[in-house]
Amino acid sequence: MPKKGMLIVLSGPSGAGKGTLCNLLLRKRPELTLSVSVTTRPPRPGEVHGVNYFFTDRENFEKMIKKGEFLEWARVYHNYYGTPRRFVEEQLKAGKDVILEIDIQGARQVKENCPDAVFIFILPPDIEELKNRIKKRGSETEESFNLRIKSAEEELKAISYYDYAVVNDDLEAAVEKLESIIIAERCKVYRNMDLIQLKRREGINI
Ligand code: ADP
Ligand code: 5GP
Repeated sequence: MPKKGMLIVLSGPSGAGKGTLCNLLLRKRPELTLSVSVTTRPPRPGEVHGVNYFFTDRENFEKMIKKGEFLEWARVYHNYYGTPRRFVEEQLKAGKDVILEIDIQGARQVKENCPDAVFIFILPPDIEELKNRIKKRGSETEESFNLRIKSAEEELKAISYYDYAVVNDDLEAAVEKLESIIIAERCKVYRNMDLIQLKRREGINI
């Protein structure tokens, strides 16, 4: 049996730095694959279709739901977001580790369907810094800013469903923690049963 890839779920309040951390992590660990989500949210300046998201309209998104094209999907901040099922399944089958950067509702669905996924919650150092970061990104209207801050409190309550908490204070340190988690998870015995069986077949007594 070829070894299957590992699913890594990253969640956390908007502005915590998930996107920034993902970019840095992928640069350091090019063997990882990032799943590009589908969304009905309009693109922010600089966002590219197929790179940051697959942008679509509500009608098409709802069609995709009906056709079972999402591994998970949720309504977040008045828009739909979903993970394309086929891409993720193909990557995992090919032995690649796949990162999903999704909200807490989506993470819950993944936990039900793929319990051996790794769940990581990204935290800002504090709420003031979270506000500064969203403002600094300059992408939100006042209404959307307020909604994101209000939701942050609810999102934090979901942290107990996750396996790991990573505070994104210093960027480099936070990326290192993510790398360490992934490396350790790859070493878990239950993820390496194929290797252990192979050694046994070779006559090595483990
Ligand atoms: P998210 O994807 O969680 O919504 P972003 O990655 O878009 O968050 O980050 C929000 C803002 O915070 C961006 O302007 C980003 O440059 C900044 N940022 C991210 N991580 C840090 C950090 N460790 N220190 C300072 N600023 C950060
Ligand atoms: P943003 O609009 O800031 O890019 O993302 C808003 C929220 O949607 C973030 O919490 C982000 O993690 C989440 N999100 C992005 N893609 C997906 C997805 O495919 N599924 C779910 N459930 N949430 C997503």
